[in-house]
Amino acid sequence: MKTYITVTSLREKLDQLHEKNQKLAFVPTMGALHNGHLSLIKSASQYASKVCASIFVNPTQFNNPDDLAKYPRALEEDKKMLSSAGCNYLFAPTVDEIYPKGISNKVSIDLKGMDKVMEGQFRPGHFEGMLQVVKRLLDIVQPQFLVMGQKDYQQFSLVNQMIIQLKIPTQLIIAPTIREEGGLAMSSRNQRLTSEMRIKSAILFKALSYAKENIQTTNLQKIIKDCTEKIALEGLKPEYFEIVDATYLSSVKEFNPDQKLVACVAAWAGEIRLIDNIIL
Ligand code: AMP
Repeated sequence: MKTYITVTSLREKLDQLHEKNQKLAFVPTMGALHNGHLSLIKSASQYASKVCASIFVNPTQFNNPDDLAKYPRALEEDKKMLSSAGCNYLFAPTVDEIYPKGISNKVSIDLKGMDKVMEGQFRPGHFEGMLQVVKRLLDIVQPQFLVMGQKDYQQFSLVNQMIIQLKIPTQLIIAPTIREEGGLAMSSRNQRLTSEMRIKSAILFKALSYAKENIQTTNLQKIIKDCTEKIALEGLKPEYFEIVDATYLSSVKEFNPDQKLVACVAAWAGEIRLIDNIIL
């Protein structure tokens, strides 16, 4: 696996692929990789002959400067993991390379409020920064396939909207959430959990699974109340537990077997904010 720091050097390589008609799948990450990320690399290689990953801790999507400062960084270890998972190219740019001075690359599209609910409500500006970096990375890499995790379901939905509205010629693929033993969704942030909280945080997946088991028979408001209580009883601080339409992320009041739904949760486990979801 070769690592590219500049846009020019990466494009030079990717132009060669393009000339040979080779397809490319792209997996953007912020590094501090775990098996969840590696599963995306493996999925990506089923769609295209070459896989490019990026590692870029995007400052514009952090609404909390402390979270940005403490975000784990482990480039050398990450490179080994990517290489062993079959990644062909790594793009690991500097901030100046992604955001050259004087160029505004903000994305302005109508997200119909999808960016204002759940994560959007608790992390103002987060999705604006996320879409900005994904658009910039897609402009640079120009992949046929983009592979993203279900773990960040709202992020996936917003990128999907952006691709549709801006008619970006890339097919978006969703890959399942990889979990630790006990059910906690793998996340780069988990390494900052205390060992006690790491065990207790399994309640998030337990609550989501409870919602899935009871969705057809129980009033949705009761499910939400029960799940929120279960999480609080375990010592986490729930921020939201919502059941929403899987495409538009609008809140759903009643179960309808013809509507695809997703339950999404965010909670603080001590100092660490965790998110998870389940397709119902
Ligand atoms: P991040 O490095 O957190 O920005 O995540 C990069 C990509 O990995 C995103 O598409 C995430 O949804 C995905 N991802 C993160 N955690 C997991 C997981 N546990 N299972 C599958 N994909 C994940």
